[in-house]
Amino acid sequence: MSFRAVFLDRDGTLNEDTGYIKNPEEVKLFTGTAEGLFNLKNAGYKLIVISNQSGIARGLITVDDVKKINEKINQLLSVSKVKIDEFYFCPSHPDYSTEKETRCRKPSPELVYTASREHKIDLQKSYFIGDSVSDILCGFNANLRTILVQTGQGKESLSILQKENKIPSFVAKNILDASNYILKQPVSDNN
Ligand SMILES: [Mg+2]
Repeated sequence: MSFRAVFLDRDGTLNEDTGYIKNPEEVKLFTGTAEGLFNLKNAGYKLIVISNQSGIARGLITVDDVKKINEKINQLLSVSKVKIDEFYFCPSHPDYSTEKETRCRKPSPELVYTASREHKIDLQKSYFIGDSVSDILCGFNANLRTILVQTGQGKESLSILQKENKIPSFVAKNILDASNYILKQPVSDNN
């Protein structure tokens, strides 16, 4: 038995990216986030957040701050009867952490692999959605199909990715648009 999943970046993808967000009261989901996630969940996808949170290594925020923001996101989503199955985050940054500590940081696929082991995810049936170059590269590195959302830094990221010839499978307006794309793709029945 294995599951399909949608791996999601957090800031700039699910919610507005105000920079090292610390106060749960400031969390604002984008239009279409809750509805898109609901549709994906309903279609049998696990929802896994993979996030770089280098504000921790920089001393700007704590692990507890990150967890409180994650809880707030699930609280906001609960109104729409959906939740993120698990939040994974990398607290490190090369300027403040050892090389080993930084291995979890996107574009490394390390946290995708950890999540896929812990949640029995079949990567061939899964996707990565994000707004940054590192999200799309992480998806490429894990051999996932990738979707760049045009929220957050999405517009700047697209031109950089085009120059590097790392073209995402789809460019979506937001999570709802991304979910519509995913749900149109053929899936095999025997999973
Ligand atoms: Mg982002």
